[in-house]
Amino acid sequence: MAKAPILTPQAEDFPRWYQDLINKAELADNGPVRGTMVIRPYAYGLWERMQSEMDARIKKTGTQNAYFPLFIPQSYLTKEAEHVEGFAPELAVVTHGGGKELDEPVVVRPTSETIINEYFSKWVQSHRDLPLLINQWANVVRWELRPRLFLRTTEFLWQEGHTAHATFEDARDFAALIHQDVYGDFMRNILAIDTIPGRKTVKERFAGAINTLTHEAMMGDGKALQMCTSHELGQNFAKAFNTTYLKGEGEREFVWQTSWGSTTRMVGALIMSHGDDSGLRVPPRLAAVQAVVLAIKGDEAVLAKVREIGAQLEAAGVRVVVDDRTDTPFGRRAVDWELKGVPVRIEVGPRDLENGTAMLVRRIAGGKEPVSVDALAALVPGILEEDQALLLQQTRERRLARTVDVTSIEEAVEAAATGFARISWAELGPEGEAKLASEGVTVRCLVAEDGSVPAEDDQPGNVAIVARAY
Ligand code: AMP
Repeated sequence: MAKAPILTPQAEDFPRWYQDLINKAELADNGPVRGTMVIRPYAYGLWERMQSEMDARIKKTGTQNAYFPLFIPQSYLTKEAEHVEGFAPELAVVTHGGGKELDEPVVVRPTSETIINEYFSKWVQSHRDLPLLINQWANVVRWELRPRLFLRTTEFLWQEGHTAHATFEDARDFAALIHQDVYGDFMRNILAIDTIPGRKTVKERFAGAINTLTHEAMMGDGKALQMCTSHELGQNFAKAFNTTYLKGEGEREFVWQTSWGSTTRMVGALIMSHGDDSGLRVPPRLAAVQAVVLAIKGDEAVLAKVREIGAQLEAAGVRVVVDDRTDTPFGRRAVDWELKGVPVRIEVGPRDLENGTAMLVRRIAGGKEPVSVDALAALVPGILEEDQALLLQQTRERRLARTVDVTSIEEAVEAAATGFARISWAELGPEGEAKLASEGVTVRCLVAEDGSVPAEDDQPGNVAIVARAY
């Protein structure tokens, strides 16, 4: 009799597969309040690695971390008209504190443009105070109606960058810098996820922005996921909060601003981009555990050997764990590491010792072969880099294979059943976009003819990337 699969196969039911993987790989649980999530240690470890890689890139742009309060006076939200309209349906509002009704209700931050501007307006006086480049790592709350673990939760963890600049051009260039050098580089080189960098249509823009840049990725089932966004805020919040600087001869000018965010959604993206029917596959550069050395049996010689291999790999710069929990059956441990997507497994049993070999199992490229123990430390770092590149290539090939050029709305809707469609924006326009929306299909972003990010929605030759999205 064939063994029952550990996870619902992707081809049978992709959403079930996603849920199964999250349970079986011990990534997260639903919280007691609908839409909330408990992030378990292995997934939190992935998030911590994301944070550290992202944080280094953010700091390289000259941005500094700071922290602003979780509670925002409700009146702040109402100062920017579009912003409050966009966020009102998602707000959690606190009306009582310490057993008493509050004089003014406070909002649990859904994003921090308002409260940060309140302080920017105090901190910025002259052009010498600009650019002001701030980021914060925090949790935010948006009362989501259709929550899904990691992808869309009511409370999520994120970084939010907020900057103020002297000119429109400086702000635009900074949003583009974050989009390319922070997000683009991180998605490609660490997450190994191929993305389409593009510009949102007016309909899909952030509430209060004059432009939103996005990275859109194709998940394993052909649906789109917005990976992160960078906004040009123009002077909208500066005007609402009177954030100005002295331009020269006594003349005050409103600052030009950006904001940009990426969240724990990226853990979901990782699962849906790289996961397969055996579990997660973690890109080696992201992985907190790049290799695991497993003792098949608990005899002394085997245990000594796995520790020795572990030390050798560590010395070779590999993030390695030695699994010597031989009171748990080997098969169960092997399946668990497979579910967790650790790129390299090295398995050592008594028979391997006799031969001076270990079994090398590759989670990403697949395959299993005996390798001389002496060769491992030299071999593994190269394998990890190879597998990193392979994952990126696979996501790129999937996107290309499942993207079609179309010329009508009907064709676009049909194509979106299995992947992405590309359609001329001049042909589609906001009216066509509304028709697509009634079919559950959205314009993920606009790209220029040459694949670059267009400077304007209506730049001639712009192509709309259309899909169903998470
Ligand atoms: P925004 O501030 O709306 O631009 O959001 C920044 C990023 O957060 C988006 O690009 C999404 O990738 C992500 N995001 C938005 N809503 C959620 C949510 N409910 N849970 C997780 N991530 C989210």
